[in-house]
Amino acid sequence: MVSMKEKSERLVLPGDRLGVVEEFSPGHGAFEIDGTVFSSFAGLTYLDLKSRVINIKPLSRKVLMPKVGDLAICEVISTSEKHVTTQIIRGSGRFFNIPFTGVIHLKTIGVRYLKSLYEAYKPRDIVLAQIIGMKNGFYHLSTQGMELGALLSYCSQCGSNLKREGAFMQCKNCGNVEKRKFSIFYGRSDIDYDRLRVRLLSRRRV
Ligand SMILES: [Zn+2]
Repeated sequence: MVSMKEKSERLVLPGDRLGVVEEFSPGHGAFEIDGTVFSSFAGLTYLDLKSRVINIKPLSRKVLMPKVGDLAICEVISTSEKHVTTQIIRGSGRFFNIPFTGVIHLKTIGVRYLKSLYEAYKPRDIVLAQIIGMKNGFYHLSTQGMELGALLSYCSQCGSNLKREGAFMQCKNCGNVEKRKFSIFYGRSDIDYDRLRVRLLSRRRV
């Protein structure tokens, strides 16, 4: 017997076996052959517990695109002397269904006296940035301003989460001290992205 949660939220592909007619009847997006219920398209299963009918909710085929001006939460993939390459995970309040590449340049980091970009971000950092342009297939990002920068960083020595201690980041596990261009929201998850987006747009034209 499959659990109820599994039944109501399972990702299925066309032709996947969902169960048998003794458990539920096929509804929208499902069909039956010799007592076995299959899905007819890709989507999420939804079992109506009252009528015991299984339906498939189709997945959205529309690709959500990041927009200039939006906030972006990105994971740092690599750093070099002049730019940081990231993967944009989500934009102002929504997740993207395909990955996008975002690049932060030395002049849009938001730290004035920086020897190299290796000091600002490191791979795996989760960074809050603003999308300031789209060129050559990349999104160009800025982390200028105290609201933007790292939200979560990991210790280069042992991989534990770094805690912000004043102007530095410290590892509570091994004591290692590192630098980052961090956001005032570092370590917080209660960010009002819509309000922050409006505030940043009023400050800077993109
Ligand atoms: Zn450490």
